[in-house]
Amino acid sequence: MADLFNPTEEHLALRAMVREFAEHDVEPQACRSDREERFNVELFRKLGELGLLGITVDERFGGSGMDAVAAVIAHEELSAVDPGLTLSYLAHAMLFVNNLAQNGNDEQRARLLPAACSGAAIGGMCMSEPGAGTDVLGMGTTARRVDGGYRITGAKMWITNGAINDTDLGDVFLVYAKTGDDGARGLSLFLVEKGMEGFRLGQKIKDKLGMRASTTAELVFEEVLVPERNLVGQEGSAVRSMMRNLELERLTLAAMSLGIARRCIEVMNRYASERHSFGKPLRAFGQIQRHIAESYAEWMAGRAYVYQVAGALRLDSYGNRIDSDGVKLYCSTMAKNVADRAIQVLGGYGYVGEYNVERLWRDAKLLEIGGGTNEAHQKNMTRDLAGVPILR
Ligand SMILES: Cc1cc2nc3c(=O)[nH]c(=O)nc-3n(C[C@H](O)[C@H](O)[C@H](O)COP(=O)(O)OP(=O)(O)OC[C@H]3O[C@@H](n4cnc5c(N)ncnc54)[C@H](O)[C@@H]3O)c2cc1C
Repeated sequence: MADLFNPTEEHLALRAMVREFAEHDVEPQACRSDREERFNVELFRKLGELGLLGITVDERFGGSGMDAVAAVIAHEELSAVDPGLTLSYLAHAMLFVNNLAQNGNDEQRARLLPAACSGAAIGGMCMSEPGAGTDVLGMGTTARRVDGGYRITGAKMWITNGAINDTDLGDVFLVYAKTGDDGARGLSLFLVEKGMEGFRLGQKIKDKLGMRASTTAELVFEEVLVPERNLVGQEGSAVRSMMRNLELERLTLAAMSLGIARRCIEVMNRYASERHSFGKPLRAFGQIQRHIAESYAEWMAGRAYVYQVAGALRLDSYGNRIDSDGVKLYCSTMAKNVADRAIQVLGGYGYVGEYNVERLWRDAKLLEIGGGTNEAHQKNMTRDLAGVPILR
């Protein structure tokens, strides 16, 4: 029978390569980067050498030309070791690189993708604002048409890779802004680059609960002049590009949850054999068995759902919001619960850094918020399911 999780030899080889890199290069710094709230830029750039930063991009533009399943594999494997670094990877490779590859034109692709695929330039995507997150159309950032382009004014909040350290901006961003008051038809997408006058770092956000190895920033736009050639797609067409990219974003965030859950299951499973209590290994006790067995079954259920959706997802279209929301809704909470059980199985040792499960538990929580909150997924899915009274 075909392997759902590694449908081709290429996928299998990719998984082996990313796992090897994650265990040998990423693992040694993961705990330290979390503690120091440091984005490891040098390590991040190595992902470019491995072909991972442009994993879904055409080879003509410096990418590896792979599919959504490959993107899921990369996120799952990296996240098992360092979800913080993986979040930076996702913001760059999915929210910037794949987004531009799918929604930009050839001039924009040729101009910006090779550096982004190699890791020379670090990118991100700016949708959320200080006053509007879930309510995307309530955003206040505007782009006013002027001679030769647009003037962008506003602020974006929670932007992963917005800064690469305490003081320096990331290099290039896809920024959503309003070009009209016409609801969804008034939203447009722009490329904003470091060095453009009026574009600056508001603040690097510190003291996050988790995902501390990725940077999160507020970015400020003061009458930033963006040339016409940096408009992505047509004016007023950004909702379509947003939908197209959100499906892959949610799928890969779900894949990150799978990595977290797998690692936590491995840790608690091993510990339950090694640790003895009342003369028996922990795994002899029914309550511990429940933590381990339910975690494994839930992880496998989530994994099957993610890979089934990934196998069907086409990068250049959209239309499967029920399941791209569904995988994230299920897997994010599954990962948080599995990490929680791992801490419980390890007792006091789970509550401190040594076994990593406390870090993974903190990181897992973000996945219920970023890329759409669980409540947003429930809202979207219930709305879309109204049109599907019979499930096949
Ligand atoms: C670490 C981190 C990294 C991030 N990276 C990025 C990034 O790179 N780019 C980017 O654009 N954004 C990013 N985000 C922002 C993220 O996508 C938003 O935080 C998220 O969409 C929620 O928006 P909000 O924080 O404004 O919460 P709000 O939208 O204000 O929601 C607050 C609460 O109200 C609930 N709520 C809101 N509306 C409804 C409703 N209609 N029905 C029921 N409940 C509702 C929400 O579910 C939530 O529980 C990041 C956030 C974090 C924390």
